[in-house]
Amino acid sequence: MNRSGALIEIDNIRKSFGDFQVLKGISLTVQKGEAVCIIGPSGSGKSTILRCINGLIPVDEGFIRVGEHRVHEMKTEKAMRPLRHQVAMVFQQYNLFPHRTALENIMMAPIQVLGHDRAEVEDRARKLLKKVRLSEKANNYPGQLSGGQQQRVAIARALAMQPEVILFDEVTAALDPETVKEVLFTIRELVDDGLTCILVTHEMKFAREVSHRVCFTDHGLIVESAPPAELFDNPQDPRTREFLGQVL
Ligand code: ADP
Ligand code: MG
Repeated sequence: MNRSGALIEIDNIRKSFGDFQVLKGISLTVQKGEAVCIIGPSGSGKSTILRCINGLIPVDEGFIRVGEHRVHEMKTEKAMRPLRHQVAMVFQQYNLFPHRTALENIMMAPIQVLGHDRAEVEDRARKLLKKVRLSEKANNYPGQLSGGQQQRVAIARALAMQPEVILFDEVTAALDPETVKEVLFTIRELVDDGLTCILVTHEMKFAREVSHRVCFTDHGLIVESAPPAELFDNPQDPRTREFLGQVL
């Protein structure tokens, strides 16, 4: 099934943990180059949606396609591998390797996982460090970097795999307010460059200014999905209105 030219197509996915149904029929289509923000209360299923998209969690029902990959049909880690190369994920906890420099952190996966040529990978890694404005930190270890700098290295590391899409899960939630800005600035530049991404975020101003579309989730459903100006200025569902009333 490839009913549209969309890069990502999710149709009516359901997921339970034990008796608890976390996703109750989520549908979402993302075009190439689109930046979609997912907002919603804690526990509404936002992270679970992202984990289903890159196959970290198998869905119980429904359909997920990313590019050529029919994710809902993939059963083994081996089958997942090409998908994981196409779909990068950046988390709240950056999880850099502490005994590797910023540059080495970015180079590891392309060399070890993709088997790319070391000199080529290093060249690309330096360009990525420049892109996230950390050229001068190439030889620093994660412990010598601020949280925001570490998160930008983590973003560069994700980009080093040359993914088709990046999933960002509350990547600024653990950062000091001063460093949140620099990370959001980096993401904004990537969106401007045409990177396809899905961002779970609590940064409403960022969602409004940067995303093409915002989805509001509540209790395992996408309650409302609209361009940011519409969703923030004229929310249609009472649950969206209530949530925005609390966070804005
Ligand atoms: P959000 O990211 O919106 O805060 P999550 O997708 O992380 O929400 O979680 C949604 C619900 O599913 C929460 O109630 C959470 O406790 C539950 N949940 C998530 N992952 C698991 C898991 N692996 N096992 C059991 N329950 C889980
Ligand atoms: Mg979450």
